[in-house]
Amino acid sequence: MFDWLVVGAGFAGSVLAERLASQRGETVLVIDRRSHIGGNAFDWYDEAGILVHRYGPHIFHTNAEAIVAYLSQFTTWRPYEHRVLAKVDGKLVPIPINLDTINRLYGLDLTSKQMEQFLVERRESVEEIRTAEDVVVGTVGRELYEKFFQGYTRKQWGVDPSQLSKSVTARVPTRTNRDDRYFTDTFQCMPAGGYTRMFHRMLAHPKIKVMLQTDYREIRKVIPYRRLIFTGPIDEFFDFRLGKLPYRSLRFEHVTLDRPRVQPVAVVNYPQTEAFTRVTEYKHLTGQQHPQTSLTYEYPTDDGDPYYPVPRAENEVLYKRYEALAAQQTDAIFVGRLATYRYYNMDQVIGQALAAFNRIQKTGAPALSL
Ligand code: FAD
Ligand code: UDP
Repeated sequence: MFDWLVVGAGFAGSVLAERLASQRGETVLVIDRRSHIGGNAFDWYDEAGILVHRYGPHIFHTNAEAIVAYLSQFTTWRPYEHRVLAKVDGKLVPIPINLDTINRLYGLDLTSKQMEQFLVERRESVEEIRTAEDVVVGTVGRELYEKFFQGYTRKQWGVDPSQLSKSVTARVPTRTNRDDRYFTDTFQCMPAGGYTRMFHRMLAHPKIKVMLQTDYREIRKVIPYRRLIFTGPIDEFFDFRLGKLPYRSLRFEHVTLDRPRVQPVAVVNYPQTEAFTRVTEYKHLTGQQHPQTSLTYEYPTDDGDPYYPVPRAENEVLYKRYEALAAQQTDAIFVGRLATYRYYNMDQVIGQALAAFNRIQKTGAPALSL
């Protein structure tokens, strides 16, 4: 009899398993239907021996010192500040849009103050900023919105930005200075030995057992456990009884080329051309020295593994109905990007898992399911 069954070996499941085993001395069985731990943050050495991320580029960034301190028990860090270029009108220019983006795109030599005026003249007045379109046209105007955001978003989400919540494009700021970092968080680093090695250390506790290639549905009636932590898609847990929640998927095309470097930065976005959204070259992230280089092309799709909850009002309404069902589930806790239908970064999922653990500590574990 395990004290806990944890479904999913990504950040949500692994953090909780580690806390329950190390702080409460309880036994935990972690299962994942994939053949590896780490969830979407899984990285591995490909056939060429290059460390790549199987599910697209994962850059760790946070302002939360407590989360860094927590993870630092399991990894050391390689400082890395993420930079992204967008291929727009045939030029590679910085995204988020900054002073250099505007100057290079339009052949100008504006100062920051002049760029502010440039934007004031172009931005549209939007009465209430609700959608992913409103955020951008209200900041940089329609022309830059169409160049940088509309095409990318249609590819990425399969719908127009006007159909998505403002939170989607609000992730990408606009700057009138020359800061070309993708993130401005106080802590931006990569786990020095990679994510998977960090997960191995988190799950190495003797009270934790891991079973891979195992779906919850296969074992839920077979393996005895007292309480459940579920980090998979919440609608699937309830057998889609209220209908399907849309999750956007990606097809990843991984390639290795016989040259040391291809792109000037780790990620190049393609908002205007190509069927893929972005291309990632991993050696920029990892600092690995190798005569070859490996890249990933991301092709968004509806079918396939669920990667992104789709932030729009009608989906939130359906999620809230599932959340109400989950609240009645006295022996189970739902945590993570898929189980709480939130477009969360890694640090937010870790924060959510640590908060769930603190609640268990304060109020006791949920009732037994015997
Ligand atoms: P997941 O990592 O999805 O883990 C859930 C696990 O549960 C999966 O392994 C799944 O196989 C398993 N599972 C589901 N259902 C079942 C079942 N029925 N039975 C058994 N196992 C099951 N965040 C950042 O901070 N920085 C980034 O740069 C970044 N880049 C990203 C790029 C891409 C392309 C994507 C898709 C996400 C990115 N993220 C990034 C977000 C990050 O991946 C997530 O925040 C984080 O990995 C979510 O962890 P999780 O444990 O909630 O979910
Ligand atoms: N986005 C865009 N053009 C870009 C970069 C981002 O339109 O060049 C939009 C797009 O809708 C994307 C969202 O902003 O899904 C959030 O971007 P982010 O880079 O955070 O996406 P993620 O890394 O989570 O896929």
